[in-house]
Amino acid sequence: MDTPGAGLGYLRGYNDALVVGLARTAPRFDRSSVVAATGLTPQAVSKVLARLAGDGLIEPAGVRRQGVGKPATIYRIVASSRYAIGVHVTRTRVRLVLTDLVGSVVAGAVAPLPADFTPGQLLDRIGEARAELLRRHPVDPVRIVGLGLGMVGPLDHANGIVRDAHRLRHWHDVPLRELAADRLHMAVHLDKDVTAGVTAEAWRRGAGFRDGVLIMVESGIGAGLWLGGAAYRGAHTNAGEFGHTVVQFGGPRCVCGRDGCLEVLHDRAVAADDVALAARLLGVGVVNLLQTTDVGHVVLAGADLLRHRDVYVDEVAAAVRLQVPRADWLTVGVSVSALGDDVIAAGAAMQVLNAAYGRPSLDGVVGQ
Ligand SMILES: [Zn+2]
Repeated sequence: MDTPGAGLGYLRGYNDALVVGLARTAPRFDRSSVVAATGLTPQAVSKVLARLAGDGLIEPAGVRRQGVGKPATIYRIVASSRYAIGVHVTRTRVRLVLTDLVGSVVAGAVAPLPADFTPGQLLDRIGEARAELLRRHPVDPVRIVGLGLGMVGPLDHANGIVRDAHRLRHWHDVPLRELAADRLHMAVHLDKDVTAGVTAEAWRRGAGFRDGVLIMVESGIGAGLWLGGAAYRGAHTNAGEFGHTVVQFGGPRCVCGRDGCLEVLHDRAVAADDVALAARLLGVGVVNLLQTTDVGHVVLAGADLLRHRDVYVDEVAAAVRLQVPRADWLTVGVSVSALGDDVIAAGAAMQVLNAAYGRPSLDGVVGQ
C-alpha cells in the first residue's frame, strides 16, 4: 500500500513543475492561459499559482480586465528566486556557472585541475570554485536548488557512477554523485558532459529542437543526443561515446583499446597541425551519426573546436550537404552553440532546474 499522502504530494509537485515549466517560457501568464496550456482545472491552477507566489517563484504583474467579471491577475516568473550551479569537468579544469530560474548564466568561475586528478582533488577544486562563484554573485544558499555535474565519460548516469573515464587513472567505478553530495552538501545531478550540453541547447531553442545532437570536441569527442524531445542516454545511460566509433578498419590504436576510432584519427590530424583534415574527419563521423539517427540539428561545441570554429563549421556543413543522400529533403541545420564555453556547465545547471521544476522526474538526483 502507498504511504498515505504520498500520491497527493507527488501530484502537487507535478502540477507545480508543470506551471513553473510554462512560466519559464511565457513572459506573462494568467490562470486561464495556464489552464489552456496544462489541462489542469481552474481550481487546481489557482492553488498552484497561490503556492508558487507564496514561495516567491512567481509574482503578480498587473491585471487583465475581461468583460464584466473580476479582473484576472497576470503573473510573471521571478528569475532571481532560485538558482542552480552547473559544473563542467574536463581533464584539465573545472568550469562553474550560476544560473537563475530561467537558465540565464549570471556568474562563472574556472579552476585548473592537477594532472591525472583524483576524485578528492576534483571535489576540492569544485568547492573552492563554488566559493569564488558565490563571492562574485552572492546568493542566499537556500535559493540554490542544487549542483549539476557534466562529467567526462564513460559514465553510469542512473547510478551516479563514473566508469573508467578515459585518460584518468583514478576513476574506476567512482560513485561521484554520492561523494559530491556528501562533500558539497547539496543535491547533486550527475550526467555525461555532452548530455548536459544538449540539454542546454534544447532548453534554449524550445520546441523546435525535437531531434538534435551536440557534438563536443574538447580533449576527446562526444555526442549528446536529444531524440523525440528528450535526452537519450541508452540502456546503460552511456550513449554518446561518438568519438569511439570506428571509421578506419585497422587504424591506429585508440585510448579505448580499439583501432581506428574517430577520436584517435582526429587527434592525430590535430597533432600534425592539419585542422582541415581533423574537421573533415569529424564531418565523416557526423554524417554517419545522421544516417543512424536522422536528427534535424547538429550543434558544434567544445574549446578545441571553438579555437577553429570556421574550419569545423565549413567542413561539417559541407559533409552534411554533400555526403547525406538526398540532402535536399533531409535538411539538417549545422551551427555552433551560442553558449560557447559555458554550454556544458549551463546545461548541467539546467538539468538541476529541470529535475526540480521541469517535467517531474527525480531520477538521478540525490542528497540535500
Ligand atoms: Zn576509441
